[in-house]
Amino acid sequence: MTDFLWQSTPLMGALVFVLGSCVGSFINVVAYRLPIMTQADTDTSRFNLAYPPSHCPSCAHVIMPWQNLPIVAYLWLKGRSRCCNQPIASSYPLTELLTGAVSVVIFVHLTAALGPLTEFLTALAGALGLFWWLIAIITTSRQHPVSVSPMWQSLLWLGLLSNLDGQYCPLPEAIGSVCITLALGRLALHRATQNQDRIHLITQGIAAGLAWFGSVFLLPLALILLGVGTVKRVVSVWRSAGSEIPMNPTLRDDQSIVAAALALSWFVSV
Ligand SMILES: [Zn+2]
Repeated sequence: MTDFLWQSTPLMGALVFVLGSCVGSFINVVAYRLPIMTQADTDTSRFNLAYPPSHCPSCAHVIMPWQNLPIVAYLWLKGRSRCCNQPIASSYPLTELLTGAVSVVIFVHLTAALGPLTEFLTALAGALGLFWWLIAIITTSRQHPVSVSPMWQSLLWLGLLSNLDGQYCPLPEAIGSVCITLALGRLALHRATQNQDRIHLITQGIAAGLAWFGSVFLLPLALILLGVGTVKRVVSVWRSAGSEIPMNPTLRDDQSIVAAALALSWFVSV
């Protein structure tokens, strides 16, 4: 059976891409609806991830199922809504394309190290779940960064769960580093007079990374921070011909950096 998977990798890769792009379509729904659902005055029995059915954000016309087909529908409709001819945000098909492409990369990466089928499928399911969750965090944080707080918390618990048998790092290391991070974060939050949201979200993101990969997570995080800092410095110097422009990172940037570090940690750990 494992041989079959190996021999038909292009076909399986295509199926994984279709599956990933469908998940990307759902991630678009999450990114649009979750920030509204987390508002205090939203009645989640009348507005949630499944209800009301998909509708046009411009004229509220109900969108037919075929108009929700990932990537294909956007190309077919030439990027404009059928009901009122308004432009459809290009971020929708891009998220679907990214999720599909990332799913294929993970699949190909895992097939390169073939093991028993059950082991392969377990590793694939865990990795796809992790990367889909990270894409959902990045996409949602572009709409409303504070809304991703419960997603980081859930990812933290899933990381500890995946390390019950030490899949990515020993469980005591994961639990210990998470406890230290959350304690330091709580202390920083207690002493801070501003940027509470930022400290809260960074703490949760780093704790989630440590829950999955233990101390291994810190190296990709440091490398990405170094890389982003260097690029920003070069761009600011280039733009202002010598004098630096302050380019403060945003809450949205923070989420993307931590998520990218988690993704890189997976490639280091597998
Ligand atoms: Zn419309």
